[in-house]
Amino acid sequence: MDRTYTQSELRSIAEAIIMDAPRMSGGASVVVLTGDLGAGKTTLVQEIARVLGVEGTVQSPTFVVLKSYQTKSAEFPALYHMDAYRIEDVAELAPLRFESVVGTPGALVLIEWGERIKAALPQGALHVTLTTPDSYNDDRRSITYTKI
Ligand code: ADP
Ligand code: MG
Repeated sequence: MDRTYTQSELRSIAEAIIMDAPRMSGGASVVVLTGDLGAGKTTLVQEIARVLGVEGTVQSPTFVVLKSYQTKSAEFPALYHMDAYRIEDVAELAPLRFESVVGTPGALVLIEWGERIKAALPQGALHVTLTTPDSYNDDRRSITYTKI
């Protein structure tokens, strides 16, 4: 996938991520979202949550690091949203039960700033990069990933 999209095209991007999230036997589907502040990571997670039928608002888990949601999707009944920006050391993941989260079949785990916890990421995670083409005020964002 290599696309530039506007806000009105977000839904199709969210649907593509759900389709392309790696199906891992005996574990969660993990998608790592990399990109600068304002590149659209949280916005994309919010759209994915909407597509999966999560009720209520999905806010950036900047301070709580990890949040879980129930969806209406049969394939991914649980959605986890993580923001690893404040993680300094992978040891901080233990109290969050990160290992158990990535070991949960039927869970879709979306991780912002996942590159900060590289050592803890399961093999086979989908790595997605978001960029802002021109200015932050521009309505366009770009997405690139290689489906595994
Ligand atoms: P991040 O989580 O990567 O820091 P956010 O999703 O919080 O980024 O912020 C992205 C900002 O860019 C939001 O204010 C959003 O409204 C805006 N924006 C403009 N165009 C787009 C687009 N095509 N996709 C996503 N966000 C966009
Ligand atoms: Mg964010």
